[in-house]
Parts: sequence; C-alpha cells; structure tokens
Amino acid sequence: MKVLKFGGTSVGTSDRIRHVAQLIREAGRNVVVLSAMSGTTNTLSEVADYLHNRNRDGAKDTIKLLEDKYLKIAAELFSDPSSRAEAENGIRETFSSLLSLTRELFGPVQERIVLAQGELLSTRLMELYLKETGVDVLLLPALSFMKLDAQGEPDLDYIREHLLPMMERKADVYLTQGYICRNADNEVDNLQRGGSDYTASLIGAALTAEEIQIWTDIDGMHNNDPRIVEHTAAVRHLHFEEAAELAYFGAKILHPTCIQPAKHANIPVRLLNTLEPQAPGTLIDNNPEPGTIKAVAAKDNITAIKIKSSRMLLAHGFLRKVFEIFESYRTPIDMICTSEVGVSLTVDQTRYLSEIVHELKHYGTVTVDLDMCIVCVVGDMDWENVGFESRVLAAMKDIPVRMVGYGGSNYNISLLVRSEDKVRALQGLSRHLFQEC
Ligand code: ADP
Ligand code: ASP
Ligand code: MG
Repeated sequence: MKVLKFGGTSVGTSDRIRHVAQLIREAGRNVVVLSAMSGTTNTLSEVADYLHNRNRDGAKDTIKLLEDKYLKIAAELFSDPSSRAEAENGIRETFSSLLSLTRELFGPVQERIVLAQGELLSTRLMELYLKETGVDVLLLPALSFMKLDAQGEPDLDYIREHLLPMMERKADVYLTQGYICRNADNEVDNLQRGGSDYTASLIGAALTAEEIQIWTDIDGMHNNDPRIVEHTAAVRHLHFEEAAELAYFGAKILHPTCIQPAKHANIPVRLLNTLEPQAPGTLIDNNPEPGTIKAVAAKDNITAIKIKSSRMLLAHGFLRKVFEIFESYRTPIDMICTSEVGVSLTVDQTRYLSEIVHELKHYGTVTVDLDMCIVCVVGDMDWENVGFESRVLAAMKDIPVRMVGYGGSNYNISLLVRSEDKVRALQGLSRHLFQEC
C-alpha cells in the first residue's frame, strides 16, 4: 500500500478535483491525503485575523465569499443531484459553524478550529465525488488518529494504534485530511503551514507503506534554477539528507518536516507532477549515489554577522555566549565559520537584528553584511572524495565569496555571496559541475 498526498494547487478547481480523482482511481488501494483547496487556508487565516481584531463584519464577509466559492465548485463538480445536495448541505453546515464562531470569544483554540475547515471541506468533496463515480472510498478522520504529544511532537504509536483498526474495513481507497490533528489536550490543532506533506510521511511510517508519493503541480525538480540557468536537467534521485539540505533552500518540493519520519522508517518518497502523471518524478530514499553532485540551489535575503575578538583566542565559552544571544531572540543560525579570533554566521530572520547586534558588541567588533545569498551544492560530499571542493571553488574564481561551509554534512557545500552575484554563481556552478563532466 502507498500513501498519496495531493497538494492545494492539485485540488484547486472542480476540474482539478476530477483529474486527481482519476489518478486516485488508477493508483488502486492506497491511502490518499488531501490538503485544503489552494487559497483556502490563507482565507481562513484572514478570518481568524479579523476575529482576533474583533472585526466581526470583516470575518463574516470573508466567510460568505468562501462559502459562495465552495457552493459554485459543488455545482460544477457533481452531476448526480443527490450527491450535489449532500455536498451543499455539508458546505452550509461548515460555514454556519464558522459563522457561529464569530459570535463567541475568539482565542487560539477557536483559531485552530477555523484553520482546520479547509482540509475537512476538500476531503468531504473528494469523498462524495469518488462515491459518485463508483469508488468504495472510506474516509479516515484525521482528528481521530493524528495526535501530538505533550511536547507538540506527533505521537507515532498513538497514530498507528488508532489508524490500523480503522483500516480493517476493506475499501477501494482510504481518504484522509492532511495538516489537521489533535494536541495532547485533545483540542483541534495542526502540523503548521504546509503540514500535509508531514501527515503523509507520518501515515507512511505508521503503516510501513511501500512508498509515499507527494503530488504537486510543480514541474519536477531540476539540478539548478531553470529561471536562471539555461541547461538544467531533471533530478531523478536524491538521498534523504540531500533532500533535507535542498528543502531549506525553498526547493518547493516538499516540506522539510516530511523527511524525518520517512527516512527513519526507510520508506521512499516520490515527488510526482499531476500535470505529467506518467513522468518518473524524483525518488528520495536512503541509498547514496557515490561520486555524484545532484543539484545547486540558492537562498536570498541572508544577513551575515561577523564578531571579531582577541578574547576568543585560547578562550573557552566564547561561542556559547554568542549562541545564547541568538537563542534568546529565537533567531536560528544557518551557516557558521570560525577562526581563532573571529566567528561569522548567517541568519535569514532579521526581526531582532539590531537587538542581537547590540548584545554581541559586549564580546567583540561586529560587522553586518546585508543582501547576501547562500548558494548550496548538494551531492556526495564525503570528505575523502577528492576534486569536488576544487571544482566548486573553481566555479567561483571571479566571484567574491564571503563564507564557505564544508564538512558540516556529507552532502553539502555552502557558499555565501552577494545577492547581486547569485546569477553568475549559479551559472558558473552549472558549467563547472554539470556541463563539463
Ligand atoms: P502544493 O502542492 O501547492 O505544494 P500544499 O498543500 O503543499 O500544496 O501547500 C498548499 C499551499 O500552502 C501552498 O501553495 C502555499 O501557498 C501554502 N504553504 C505551504 N507551506 C507554507 C508555509 N510554510 N507557510 C505558509 N504557507 C505555506
Ligand atoms: N492547507 C495547509 C496550508 O495551506 C496545509 C497544506 O496545504 O499542506 O498550509
Ligand atoms: Mg507543498
């Protein structure tokens, strides 16, 4: 059995729902995880914003517009009048319960209930549509098995214990909601924005599935940015660690949280394109491919911070003090390079930059470089390989490089350059790594 996850854009219109239903039917007896239709979670989050700001009219208008959108989709989707009536009743019920929330005191618990409605609606529509087309589909309510523990982490044992008995009833297809769950207090909660990929991965791990498929509308994974580099090639295979490195770089392929459960349970993840269903996609698993460089990716809006201090020389505890400052402002550090008298690091969240810089000045001379870009090369970077580092650096021979990160993992070299040099860096790397082999 496989787990198939379809994202928001894949189920964005009635036509897209029909197309996905066809793919689901052809794939056989699997578990299907659906996101909300594209735009819905953002609209629900707007509703929550209005209610936090006590603007009930703003919330009601937004709810009404969304309800109209769903009623229109139901009218387009169903040809059988009784399925259509059932869908419309479900939609009206959902939206009247949303309206009733506008009359109550609004807090985080209510907000999470609002945010959960998108996946509840999309799966209800898909369930009815699959039934209309003769598929024996069984809806597995995520709120009955997807559970967070007291630390806010998914409880895999609970998930397994509650999911397996539900699946004893045989069906052509099992369908469930991505993203939504219950927390340790049994309240409705979620796995964070984009979390449907995580749901698919957790279900795959709980069932020891044959494969987890993440279906999107994105045109596959390339070895470099096709908007910048002319000759890119599709990436057919990645190690989980390589996928994890690329996920940080916003390679919009899968959510970073999705990697760990699948990797741990050793279940392959396949990225597929709903617009080109026959294409092989990208397979992610635990099998390394020795001696290959897979892809280059870049992330903009990076800030570099250098702290230079002779007090660092032969001292212990210096780095701890530096890290504690970032920790106290909940600002993650991405790249880091040290010398005997200084440390350079990068951040992509600058909300507390001035406070952090102010505190760092207790420990040394601080320099900040804005508008930087991390360029990352992913592949087999085992330190005993020879030649890859020199090819990467040769590609940078005319470009000022502010930092180089190598040895942090076996799968990555990162280079920090000015954003204005990004295009040249990506093109140079493409020539040196992929075209001259
Ligand atoms: P897709 O197949 O389009 O990736 P998803 O269900 O994974 O579908 O995501 C649906 C939408 O949710 C995305 O198109 C994006 O607009 C939004 N989204 C995903 N991840 C995040 C995130 N981390 N923060 C905010 N919005 C997100
Ligand atoms: N619907 C949620 C979101 O838009 C979760 C997801 O789509 O993965 O973030
Ligand atoms: Mg996605």
